[in-house]
Amino acid sequence: EAATTDRRVAERTAQLEEINEELDSFAFSVSHDLRAPIRAMQTFAEILLDDEMQTAAERNAYLVRIKTAAQGMDRLIQDLLAYSRVSRQEITLEPVRLDQVVRDAAQQLELTAGGKAYRLEIASDLPTVIGHPTVLVQVVLNLMTNGIKFVPKGVVPLLRIWTDEKQEYCRLYVEDNGIGIAPQYQERIFKIFERLHSMDSYPGTGVGLAIVRKAVHRLGGRIGLESKEGEGSRFWIELRRAE
Ligand code: ADP
Repeated sequence: EAATTDRRVAERTAQLEEINEELDSFAFSVSHDLRAPIRAMQTFAEILLDDEMQTAAERNAYLVRIKTAAQGMDRLIQDLLAYSRVSRQEITLEPVRLDQVVRDAAQQLELTAGGKAYRLEIASDLPTVIGHPTVLVQVVLNLMTNGIKFVPKGVVPLLRIWTDEKQEYCRLYVEDNGIGIAPQYQERIFKIFERLHSMDSYPGTGVGLAIVRKAVHRLGGRIGLESKEGEGSRFWIELRRAE
């Protein structure tokens, strides 16, 4: 009995230490990621104010960089708010039709893709699962957004979406023909702020997959991926089927 209590205390202490570490690195990453665009805005604004000899084109270029930095900050804050929402919001589980979820996500993807070309293949007759409609749309949209983003230049992204049913569970797959993810990174990418590529090649906040994982866990589901570098990635989420 005493041994069990000791073990519980040790487990709890380890958990708290982990949460504490996460909080430290969270504070560090947020301040770092917000500071970079603020510095950029400061620098370019100072150049604009100090130097009166610039051409209109030069001034314009600095203004564009200020705007880009502000947009990056806004993106990060939006993503952090979405992360916090999915962590804190009350979620009542209910039967949700996956075909509706995927259709809604596809519609939003088209709006956010800004005219970028991609192909989308969605299996017919997707089942009904236990989940939450808006949370699931966000999950699928985030996976689809990554699927058309992490693709080599010149390759038209192809997204394939289908399900696989096993007894009381259903797996929804989102597969892309992108750059893929090496095995040693496949765990890490779900952590908040983890990004594998330079901002120049693939800009992002590193929050998207953390939102997805948190959301899937809050729905009582599981998430994973299969991927081969240079060939593509296949993310899956597993949820309970609705009878
Ligand atoms: P972001 O997209 O803002 O960079 P995410 O949390 O969505 O952040 O993803 C974390 C990292 O995982 C990405 O920066 C990228 O390196 C990798 N990643 C995510 N999805 C894919 C994908 N479909 N193909 C290849 N790499 C991916």
